[in-house]
Amino acid sequence: MMHLQNYIDGVMVAPNEGAYIDNIDPSRGTVYSLIPDSDKTDVDQAVAAAEKAFPKWSNTPVDERSAIMVRIANLIESRMDEFAAAESLDNGKPVSLASHVDIPRAVSNFRFFATAILHFASESHYMEGVGINYTLRRPIGVVGCISPWNLPLYLFTWKIAPAIAAGNCVVAKPSEITPMTAYLLSEICIEAGLPAGVLNIVHGLGHKVGDALSRDPKVKAISFTGGTKTGETIARIAAPMFKKLSLELGGKNPNIIFADCDFKKALSTTIRSSFANQGQICLCGSRIFVERPIYEKFRDEFVKRVAESKVSYPTDPEAKLGALVSKPHLEKVLSYVALAKEEGGTVLTGGEQVFLDGEYSEGYYMRPTIIEGLTYDCRTNQEEIFGPVVTITPFDTEEEVLMMANSTQYGLSATLWTENLTRAHRMADLLHTGIVWINAWLVRDLRTPFGGAKNSGVGREGGFEALHFFTEPKNVFVQLS
Ligand code: NDP
Repeated sequence: MMHLQNYIDGVMVAPNEGAYIDNIDPSRGTVYSLIPDSDKTDVDQAVAAAEKAFPKWSNTPVDERSAIMVRIANLIESRMDEFAAAESLDNGKPVSLASHVDIPRAVSNFRFFATAILHFASESHYMEGVGINYTLRRPIGVVGCISPWNLPLYLFTWKIAPAIAAGNCVVAKPSEITPMTAYLLSEICIEAGLPAGVLNIVHGLGHKVGDALSRDPKVKAISFTGGTKTGETIARIAAPMFKKLSLELGGKNPNIIFADCDFKKALSTTIRSSFANQGQICLCGSRIFVERPIYEKFRDEFVKRVAESKVSYPTDPEAKLGALVSKPHLEKVLSYVALAKEEGGTVLTGGEQVFLDGEYSEGYYMRPTIIEGLTYDCRTNQEEIFGPVVTITPFDTEEEVLMMANSTQYGLSATLWTENLTRAHRMADLLHTGIVWINAWLVRDLRTPFGGAKNSGVGREGGFEALHFFTEPKNVFVQLS
């Protein structure tokens, strides 16, 4: 059985206590490797290594930092198939998704921030006849990056890349449920010549490794993506220590479809935005609101097409949905279907577990599920399910749909389908979310601010927002007279 290792001070090491956790292949429901069950002592070593590396790395010219990051990007790209297979095995997602979305995006994350740092500038403010202010933006020091299991390498590198580009040293914790590509990344960092201690990866459980990282006073900032509850736990620990915090949290995104939309495009994109990655993307639209004149037509075609979507093992090239990430997660998602029924909902398609044959018979598969007949304020429509379950609801007016769309504690993203440009802009302005897509979904430009409003998070990632987060501004005034 393969034993994964931590990456600390430039080398691969076993956890201090020698303890390991099972790493399960969700497509088969079997253990296929072992992950370090690290503790505070491993985190302490990683933080010490990062502190030691910081003075040199933060003063390394940006073009040298950039060149190393470009090498990392190129090396991941050269092992694309291996990384995609590893991501799919670890997470249960179709290999086609990992090779078209997850791994290419991890490559882009390194490439984007390797070049963004070359163009990063700070401000200067001239005071007529008095003096000049200029702002220094220096790296913070040792920073912690904690990421979830749904887009493992994609989100892990989305944090690490801007942090090290800006000259920080990082202690990072991938989700213990999907550690494999982070482990492969350690090998690549060594090969690319990333100096020891600049990036340290400590595997293990959130309440041990993540907690130790949040509590360590030497860790000056935490960039976290995950559930809203966990974000709250981290904030409670880190905020009184005045750490910088970037929190990307849960969502319950509305997908609003007006009668004047491009029907075919709205339908095919809605299938993707509902069920891509088994609905386990924070940006998936889980509440679908359709304007009454096209409600029945849209619902019927949506249900028909979704019922035909193939649920299969991740290496099946025809698989539209693979396995959910874990047994507890599958059980949680199924429990929401039961709740929806109790709340008066009708399951139009799906709603149950899928049992494949042979070696995949113990995997965590579920049919994509569409539920109708629920009120906008019931628990099913207010709580994040994070699986292949959506609700569909008719609406009559803009005011009504805005009220329903904005009614949850979350505010990550929203999608609008209409050919009426004025309405699209008006609605975009009134939606309480950090991101709005008009006639599109999941189109990402890495320069744009990414993040959520309300309980979906604090701060923004992406482009110069991320480089601002990972640097400390200092204003310097020079008297001229
Ligand atoms: P969790 O919040 O359970 O975990 C996220 C990470 O935090 C994991 O690495 C986890 O470790 C770690 N963690 C858990 N407890 C603690 C703790 N006490 N202190 C520090 N770290 C801890 O989220 P999931 O992994 O279940 O991911 C799904 C969630 O992520 C959903 O709510 C989803 O909406 C959100 N998400 C948000 C995105 C955004 O950009 N806004 C993007 C993607 C997902 P371990 O795995 O060991 O528990």
